[in-house]
Amino acid sequence: MNAEVVAVGTELLLGQIANTNAQHISDALARVGVNVFFHTTVGDNLVRMTDVIATALRRSDVVVITGGLGPTPDDVTREGVAAATGRALARDDRLVETIRGIFAKLGRRSMPESNLRQADLPEGAKAIDPVGTAPGFELEHEGTLLFALPGVPWEMKAMLDSDVLPRLQAAAEGTIVSSEVLVVGVGESHVDEKISDLVATQSNPTIAYLAGGGRVKVRLTAKAATEDAARTLIEPLEDEVRGRLGADAVGRGSASVAEDLGSMLRERGATVAVIESLTGGLIGAELTRLPGAGDFFTGGVVAYSNEVKDRVAGVDPDLLEEKGAVSEEVAAALARSAAWTFGADLGLSATGVAGPGEQDGLPPGTVFVGASYRGRTEVRRPRAYGDRGNVRAVTVTWAIDLGRRLLLDDGG
Ligand code: ATP
Ligand code: MG
Repeated sequence: MNAEVVAVGTELLLGQIANTNAQHISDALARVGVNVFFHTTVGDNLVRMTDVIATALRRSDVVVITGGLGPTPDDVTREGVAAATGRALARDDRLVETIRGIFAKLGRRSMPESNLRQADLPEGAKAIDPVGTAPGFELEHEGTLLFALPGVPWEMKAMLDSDVLPRLQAAAEGTIVSSEVLVVGVGESHVDEKISDLVATQSNPTIAYLAGGGRVKVRLTAKAATEDAARTLIEPLEDEVRGRLGADAVGRGSASVAEDLGSMLRERGATVAVIESLTGGLIGAELTRLPGAGDFFTGGVVAYSNEVKDRVAGVDPDLLEEKGAVSEEVAAALARSAAWTFGADLGLSATGVAGPGEQDGLPPGTVFVGASYRGRTEVRRPRAYGDRGNVRAVTVTWAIDLGRRLLLDDGG
């Protein structure tokens, strides 16, 4: 069964709100084994909406519309469905009573007659009772199941749960389960080199990459009659992918590289501290975001100016002068100093040019991250690209990842 989600609302097209409803609906449909093939967004315009709904009905087994069911003249989803299916609108007497009842309950004395538009349904449609004020409806048209839900997110979600999902679950072929392998410290092309043959030959589970922010997520998605059966399909393939990626893959069960480093530090009874320049505290923030970070995080400073790198972080001013603040040597010195100053087993550091301008003749994205673990110090140069925000995000990931790799090397 394949589905299409149609989001209605000019504010979506104008970029005033994000289409979170489509995301929620897609996620919910996947869970009951329905493949979503299309997301369509259309404004509050009857002609274009009719066209979109007609197309959706033609190419999809299930159409879920959200929005445009309110009482105002710009809410034209009812009319759009009627036009696209060649049906007339008829007023549903039971819904009229329900809507009057809602107004009475709200303590409003008079209800604008225009509100009764919300009781109009395309012929053959079945009402879904309002959870707020807007009713929804479902309709079967030439073998396609169509659901029209309100745009207000909580109303949409309530109807999805109470009506749409049970209906689809009954008709669905199974369930979809996904698992993610998080890869850090290497680029997408490196990942592809290692597993492209698996990607090319697999159809269930499928494998997809999502790259960004210094990470590559390898997502495995399986479809089967039951959740257990889907997991059984995923497991051996995930083992194979993890085996090939080795230390580049973050530990199973860790949602982020920081979480992975945190649990490794905990296992070893070890601690971490940071001295950061271009990331301005983001590495420390990422590590302390984890609950119970006090078990392994001792402290950190932002050593932004050269004077602070010298006076607070203890970097030799001659070294700063000779090599420049953005250098392998200074990254190493900062990492060692982090461990020493804060009495931690692991010191992490980052120095570089976040952009958009150059610094000391170095282009934006020139970054060094350092890690020093029990006397052994390493420096890496992340492939930091994009705008200032992305350069900093990539740097955070790589700095934490370098610490993780030193711990891995130091005894599994
Ligand atoms: P109502 O009767 O409450 O007007 P409606 O069906 O007419 O319901 P809309 O007017 O389209 O719904 O949307 C109401 C509000 O719900 C919007 O202002 C917006 O805040 C939110 N909303 C609508 N569509 C979406 C969407 N696709 N994703 C997230 N939020 C949405
Ligand atoms: Mg509305």
